[in-house]
Amino acid sequence: MSEPLLQVEHLKKYYPIERKWFGKQGAVVKAVDDISFSVMQGETFGLVGESGCGKSTTGRALLRLIEPTGGQVRFDGTELTALSAKELRMKRRDMQIVFQDPFSSLDPRHTVQRILEEPLIVHGIGDRQERQRMIRELTDVVGLAQSHLQRYPHQFSGGQRQRIGIARALSLRPKLIVADEPVSALDVSIQSQVINLLQDLQEEFGLTYLFIAHDLSVVKHISDRIAVMYLGRIIEIAEKDKLYSAPRHPYTQALLSAVPEPDPDMRRARILLQGEVPSPADAPVGCAFHTRCPKVMDICRARRPELAETGEGHLAACHLYPDTLQEDERIHS
Ligand code: SF4
Repeated sequence: MSEPLLQVEHLKKYYPIERKWFGKQGAVVKAVDDISFSVMQGETFGLVGESGCGKSTTGRALLRLIEPTGGQVRFDGTELTALSAKELRMKRRDMQIVFQDPFSSLDPRHTVQRILEEPLIVHGIGDRQERQRMIRELTDVVGLAQSHLQRYPHQFSGGQRQRIGIARALSLRPKLIVADEPVSALDVSIQSQVINLLQDLQEEFGLTYLFIAHDLSVVKHISDRIAVMYLGRIIEIAEKDKLYSAPRHPYTQALLSAVPEPDPDMRRARILLQGEVPSPADAPVGCAFHTRCPKVMDICRARRPELAETGEGHLAACHLYPDTLQEDERIHS
């Protein structure tokens, strides 16, 4: 894990909710608001936050499944935001996505055989015989039986459908997989099987994952580093162990305090946040978390904290850590 495979710089995705008047910008929802991070080769980078924080939009915008409003995304040496539609199609071979809901992402009219063969045909890979061989290998790798190939998505359980979704993502031998809440729709007993499968596949194929989830215990299990999002912005990035043992940002502290901990010595006092998550169409001035933060100070209502180094590569966007850096030391990732 040395070189970044993916570098995201100042990524933004805004949705207009009012028309422009006389050249003036109308109101917008800032679903993703100027975020930067890198994912190293072979790393699993967790992106976590409550529903609506912008994490899934981030995954889709960096793959250009939706067009970003601004920012740069550099993947494997190529600037994705500068590619034509045709060039992007070719590049997609190397970066695939696994969706949360395997049922709605698999065409119900097609057999598994056809679902797995389609990406190979689109990218002109192999002749029919060669593709059959590859599909047989894929089903083995994800733990499906050959007899499953002639069945339709509705004939499978949720866990099996997610295995089909993973097989489809793997079919083009990508370098990066964006796993967007891949186990959220599954029973807890099945979640760990799918997570273990993703880990085995990572080892076997040298994959890099951007793993998006709202469940901190799932992210902890699989990630090397984790970024926490709140209202469209990243508010903390750290190695997994550092984030869980010493979270810096009060929002991360509150999220972690709600995670059930089997070891009584490790249990944290529950931090109950007051108030609702503000609307991303009308985010608070200053720190977006100040309306709910138990440690709010005057400066928090006036100045937005930037994501900055707080020691040992642990980044946080919080005015509680102003002394740890000079202005010119501030970094985004
Ligand atoms: Fe809380 Fe202020 Fe830190 Fe925001 S900047 S998280 S309001 S202490």
